[in-house]
Amino acid sequence: MTNETQTDHPISVKPLPSMMSLCLSIPPYEIINLDDSHNPDLAEIYWYRGQLDSYCPECGKESVFHAANKSWSSEVGIVDTRKVFTHKFLCTRNNQHSLCFTFRIGDKTLTKIGQYPSLADLAQPSISKYRAVLSRPQFNELSKAVGLAAHGVGIGSFVYLRRIFEFLIDEAHKQISEDPDWQEEIYLRARMSEKIVLLRSKLPKFLVENKSLYGILSKGIHELTEQECLDAFPITLTGIELILDELIVQKERESKIRQASNMMNKLKQDLADNTDGSDL
Ligand SMILES: [Zn+2]
Repeated sequence: MTNETQTDHPISVKPLPSMMSLCLSIPPYEIINLDDSHNPDLAEIYWYRGQLDSYCPECGKESVFHAANKSWSSEVGIVDTRKVFTHKFLCTRNNQHSLCFTFRIGDKTLTKIGQYPSLADLAQPSISKYRAVLSRPQFNELSKAVGLAAHGVGIGSFVYLRRIFEFLIDEAHKQISEDPDWQEEIYLRARMSEKIVLLRSKLPKFLVENKSLYGILSKGIHELTEQECLDAFPITLTGIELILDELIVQKERESKIRQASNMMNKLKQDLADNTDGSDL
């Protein structure tokens, strides 16, 4: 995946990004400009034999990966040599688990042209807890939002975040519709910010207090540039995460209350049996 902004405007950085950020943060197809002064940095990346700390999607947790490549033949003046090379890293827990990153040195440029698993899959741990409060399709959309942003696609990522926002509103609407005093007519005519006020008893507090989030997401889709959306993505995602965090707390609390009340009933029953029906 790529976008025009990045390919049209390569980035120039000194020193080069670390192996860690090249592999785990920088989106594929981002072009980094090189000059001769980059040779030592580039050699370090080309001959990298160190480790990589990353989430392992197969272990389902953080792990340490070790470079698996055999030795390269010794070369000088890498910047002037066009080539494609791949670094493979093996998980220390299980050497069947691997991460692969392929780079291309072009005409005074360095580009990551591929990787497996994707940046999105390596970024999963930060959002995996939200499976508990999102249905499978909604979780996949959250995952796509994070994945698109990780690959430099800003507007597309906003589309998925907005859909999650709308899903949360729909869920609250379904719950409140069962209330006999609920006035559906008013709701149907309301704008999103008014709908949030009408649904406030069923929505996470953060969402009610920050109803402008929806406006920001919509503005992103219609008016902001790709880069403006990317810049706004972290705070927007945090907003959605705070909403989901509240739902997790609420769900855990409800489940604890249910368990406690079951235990309480059982205890009462046991005591009643032992004390021959005396009053508890
Ligand atoms: Zn692993």
